[in-house]
Amino acid sequence: MSDYLVRMMAADGTVRAFAATTKDLAEEARRIHNTSPVATAALGRLLTAGAMMGVQMKDEKDLLTLAIRGDGPLGGVTVTADMHGRVKGFVNHPDVWIAPKYAGKLDVGKAVGAGTLTVTRDQAYGQPYSSQVNLQTGEIGDDLAAYFVLSEQLPSSVGLGVLVDKDDADGFYVKRAGGFLIQVMPGCTDETITALEKNLTQIPSLTAALDEGKTPEDLLEILLSGLSPQAEGQDDLSYYCNCSRDRVSRVLLSLGRKELDAMIAEGKPVELCCHFCDKKYEFTVDEIQGLLT
Ligand SMILES: [Zn+2]
Repeated sequence: MSDYLVRMMAADGTVRAFAATTKDLAEEARRIHNTSPVATAALGRLLTAGAMMGVQMKDEKDLLTLAIRGDGPLGGVTVTADMHGRVKGFVNHPDVWIAPKYAGKLDVGKAVGAGTLTVTRDQAYGQPYSSQVNLQTGEIGDDLAAYFVLSEQLPSSVGLGVLVDKDDADGFYVKRAGGFLIQVMPGCTDETITALEKNLTQIPSLTAALDEGKTPEDLLEILLSGLSPQAEGQDDLSYYCNCSRDRVSRVLLSLGRKELDAMIAEGKPVELCCHFCDKKYEFTVDEIQGLLT
């Protein structure tokens, strides 16, 4: 895995910035879920955002969940992230095909449709926190920017890009993926904001910049130009699912006695599949009975 994220601060600590390359994890998600190009882009974008938000968490057990629910053909996109840059996710309808916006531009907004973005933080210490905003465009970057302003009072610029290309066998793969997140802290001056806005115009298309081979360091150099950026560290990113037989059996139990009794009466083993990594777990009738006792 070669995915990673770079963190920086700038303008005397009033600007926080992240940039990531996420090609491998976006491709891993595509491979697991066999997603269509537009579904690959939607999932890859939200995974990238999850990674950049996840590494800001403080505790080992903290979990961030980003859930998009839309009335478009994709139905929804769900991603979780931990503080170690480990992300996983799925789309409700991975095989959606819709016409591109224009040549080479997948129409994620149309595939997602109108709906909501919910951000949930399950914290090791303290109450879980959940906040919902209406989708702005369904393009995901814009929707997260709206979330940061409305729910966290943190004016932010979010760039997310996934470039899907055809492979030799007429299939698809993720050629490039990545993103950036620039957040303006209280006390930020108007001059800094003006400089940031000007810098942002230097990257009119993130996907094009990624395709040119721009690294996270390159992106932040452009975006924080003239703002005395300071490196704050780097994190490895990966697609990682922590499902286990034990977790899945708890899901099975949560179906309730009536449902489980019906399965036992059926007399056949039951197979459950992890939404995030597609791993299959089989439970025999004896094992289901064992769970109940
Ligand atoms: Zn799993």
